Amino acid sequence: MIIHLDLDCFFASCERLRDPSLIGKRLVVGGRGDPFIFDKNPAQAKKLITLNSGAFVPALFHASHNSNHYFNDENTIRGIVLTASYEARAFGVKTGMSLHEALRLCPDLILVPPNHLLYHTMSHKLMEYLATLVPVMEQYSIDEMFGDLGGWIAEEETERFVIHLQKQITERFNLPVSIGASTSKWIAKLATSAAKPYGIRVIKKDNIKEFVNDIPIDDFPGVGKAYSAKMANYGIKTIGDAWESKILITSWGRAGQDLYARFTGSDNESVSARQSRKGIGISRSMDHPVKERSELYRRISVMVRHWSHTIIKLGVNPTTYSFSLGYENWGSSKKQYTTYRLFNEHFIQHFAHEKFKELDLYPHIPVRYIAMSATKFIHHDPKTFNILEYHNDTKMRNLTDALTKMREKYGMDIVRGGGEL
Ligand SMILES: [Mg+2]
Repeated sequence: MIIHLDLDCFFASCERLRDPSLIGKRLVVGGRGDPFIFDKNPAQAKKLITLNSGAFVPALFHASHNSNHYFNDENTIRGIVLTASYEARAFGVKTGMSLHEALRLCPDLILVPPNHLLYHTMSHKLMEYLATLVPVMEQYSIDEMFGDLGGWIAEEETERFVIHLQKQITERFNLPVSIGASTSKWIAKLATSAAKPYGIRVIKKDNIKEFVNDIPIDDFPGVGKAYSAKMANYGIKTIGDAWESKILITSWGRAGQDLYARFTGSDNESVSARQSRKGIGISRSMDHPVKERSELYRRISVMVRHWSHTIIKLGVNPTTYSFSLGYENWGSSKKQYTTYRLFNEHFIQHFAHEKFKELDLYPHIPVRYIAMSATKFIHHDPKTFNILEYHNDTKMRNLTDALTKMREKYGMDIVRGGGEL
């Protein structure tokens, strides 16, 4: 059997780990993260760091219940809901809704700015733990994973195993999770949706038809708007309807055949244990585009410092980096680079500055958007690294590790780079 795990209101659950007073409250995570990241005087941020340093989180991004930063110049609230607690969902608050709308539905809602490093760290720890219990695990998104129990847990033992798994995750991580199981990935995922919140659901092969019969077609994972509309034209509203329309759907080429196989749980798509984390990135949009290049590069230094810290904390070594700049009313400039270097902060600061200078094709136009991301992780095998740089990178890496320890203890702003002054 294939299992699918989906953490219940994951970002909100993570915030509750940090601040248990949020348990049971109507809560949304949304708006903008780390509002003080570009502050020149980090004193205020530092205070927030000590207030918010929880058991798990290296104090990187600063969450605060002071909601001033939610408001823009016109004093209207901005941002969208990333995750709502079930207590807030009872009022109709949903992911993707504007905070403005969410507050209208539920005026005493608590807003918490997102703390992505915390969510990444928790997700990573959970995946590491799951890999010790299930031989083949695939990370599908930050809060969803697939696991293949084939050859490991007998089919009739699935339910018992899944109950055990849910209990273990609750005990170790204090995170509520829902788990679905079936003979295919997408039916397992659908089973999880049916089990939420904090439930389990096992769908045996012979029960798939009965289970999917009345589920609306739009609830099936990965059915896009185009196919949904196309099927609606033929009166196909539920997955049960789709089962009855084999000739029609499979006549829509390869995509139609794949879709039909998914609907019926006969797709045979495998759980793949490949490192599926897409990358680690950081990006910021400016309310006021930055024209002054010295200020632009100061902000780039700040972002690289946070980004580098995250990469080190996750224990990965990227080999591909992409950078992009968005201009005010002008489109953007973007490029990807591959380099085999032992990751360290000194290297990435220089590399990022050099590449951003190349990318800045219109240095007289204000920049409204800065983004950087790292992908293609490899293990620390000296053979694959650039030999000429390796000796120096090793020294710089030791320095970076020392900085990482200090920042975890005293906050991200305790040591800042020369480029930020
Ligand atoms: Mg979830």
